[in-house]
Amino acid sequence: MNSECIFCKIANKEIKTDIIYEDDNVIAFNDLNPQAPVHFLVIPKKHYPSLNEIDSEEAFMKIFSAIPKITKKLGIKEYRTVINTGAQAGQTVFHIHVHVMAGREFTWPAG
Ligand code: 5GP
Ligand code: ZN
Repeated sequence: MNSECIFCKIANKEIKTDIIYEDDNVIAFNDLNPQAPVHFLVIPKKHYPSLNEIDSEEAFMKIFSAIPKITKKLGIKEYRTVINTGAQAGQTVFHIHVHVMAGREFTWPAG
């Protein structure tokens, strides 16, 4: 828990958020500023500033294995997952999160 971190506060339920999935290690909630009809974020409850600080395959798997559980529950088969790592890559919240977006066509390369 990092007391300065907004996603730690969300994981800790200090900030009321639209939680769509939770297990012992991970929480998922709708993005405040959605970029697609479906746009949610999956975060570990433990604070890692970015992908660079993920210290075990287990930690990584805990985050990623939650995604198909959530999409299945939502009835979504096609979706885009994004992790922005570092400011230049577009990261603005420094608690690792996976964006999951669906419900529209996506272009490539990403902007
Ligand atoms: P990044 O730019 O770091 O990859 O993504 C951060 C995301 O978090 C953005 O899509 C932004 O809309 C979302 N976000 C930032 N603050 C909050 C918040 O307080 N609540 C929710 N639900 N989403 C947030
Ligand atoms: Zn945090």
